[in-house]
Amino acid sequence: MRKFEHVDGQMLIGGARAVDIVKRFGSPIYVTDEDAVRENYRAVYGAFAKRMPTRINYACKANTNLAILRILEQEGSCIDAVSIGEVETCLRAGFSPDRILYTGVNVSNDELRAVSSKRVPINVDSLSELERLSKITTELPLSFRVNPEVGSGHSEKVITGAKSTKFGVPKHQIIDAYARALELGFRPKGLHAHIGSGGQAVEPFIRMTEVLVTIAQELESKLGIELEFIDIGGGIGIPYRPEESVMDLDLLAEEVTGRIKAGTTARTIVVEPGRYIIADSTVLLATVVDLKDTPDKKFAGTDAGFNNLVRPAFYGSYHRVAVANKFDRPAEAKYDIVGPICETGDHIAKDRELPKLDEGDIIVAYDAGAYGFTMSSNYNMRPLCREVLVHKGEMNLIREKQTLEDLLRQVKVPSRLLV
Ligand SMILES: *Cc1c(COP(=O)(O)O)cnc(C)c1O
Repeated sequence: MRKFEHVDGQMLIGGARAVDIVKRFGSPIYVTDEDAVRENYRAVYGAFAKRMPTRINYACKANTNLAILRILEQEGSCIDAVSIGEVETCLRAGFSPDRILYTGVNVSNDELRAVSSKRVPINVDSLSELERLSKITTELPLSFRVNPEVGSGHSEKVITGAKSTKFGVPKHQIIDAYARALELGFRPKGLHAHIGSGGQAVEPFIRMTEVLVTIAQELESKLGIELEFIDIGGGIGIPYRPEESVMDLDLLAEEVTGRIKAGTTARTIVVEPGRYIIADSTVLLATVVDLKDTPDKKFAGTDAGFNNLVRPAFYGSYHRVAVANKFDRPAEAKYDIVGPICETGDHIAKDRELPKLDEGDIIVAYDAGAYGFTMSSNYNMRPLCREVLVHKGEMNLIREKQTLEDLLRQVKVPSRLLV
């Protein structure tokens, strides 16, 4: 869990005072510390790269801001993209097509055509997709996503590797899928699985790796395929709650690379962290606009709702919160931090012990960098909020707030309704 400095009771993010950020740009606002992104990237890359050649495919659905992508491009990262929109965004951010791997699910022919026309390799999710892709091109490097029948994640909604999910080629069909790919003229290069999002335990990764190693061995003995890479997907969790543990990256890397090196001829390991790289680099700042005491609870109403950060409402996720302008004060009362969306489920945090709150205080929600902004919405006709990058005290706006015009641009009214 990232530690934040403070001066005179004022929280600092990347050397800038949270209150100054809000004073200058308004709230709600996402604030990313550039150094933290680089540090996280280097931690995960370093743990694996000292054991075998490693490629990090940053899972950009966690956060696709172009400035964030530029930081990771500079670091040497590659990309896991799950849509043509993400592919095109990453190309625009300066990633060459060979540094992107597209892993879609239920991919349409239009999307297959669009992705392959950009020369971006496709990680195939089903036999149907393989057949459809073969009619478009067999030229690009090919890999398959297998369903390893090993699942893990912070919520039922994000466990992708279990037997009953929609993802990947079913394990019992995977050898046939490669055989069919050879018949169709493809050159299979890799094997991929992704167990889910947000576990801190090493054990599911070991079980998944064992499945991948067994498949790689069968591919070699039965089909003569020597894979170039094995991709263990993403899903490295972070401690959102104070009592949660951090993933032991060194142990994870040791257990996984050890098995791949001992059991296969694959030269490269691919890892696809999203959350681990970006979650704790970013906070959401919101202003307390309303205070309400009910017989049951004290509510602190802020200008941020589940339109800005949906994880608590959608997954029941926990985000640690603090008061940025009372950072050194002790807790005095228990609050629910809620937003302006007209639904009871709209909350950022529940039953939190905080210093006594006043209107105008700045609430900070931690670990908001992954699946924070990217999952925000225009519900209740609220514009998407600003994002700021801080670097050694310097603040740069990296996304403007939407305007009402932006929200209405694609809407059309038939002329008969205009009289
Ligand atoms: C979402 C996703 C990831 C990243 O998951 P995190 O939990 O953010 O690390 C990696 N690979 C694929 C295929 C994904 O869909």
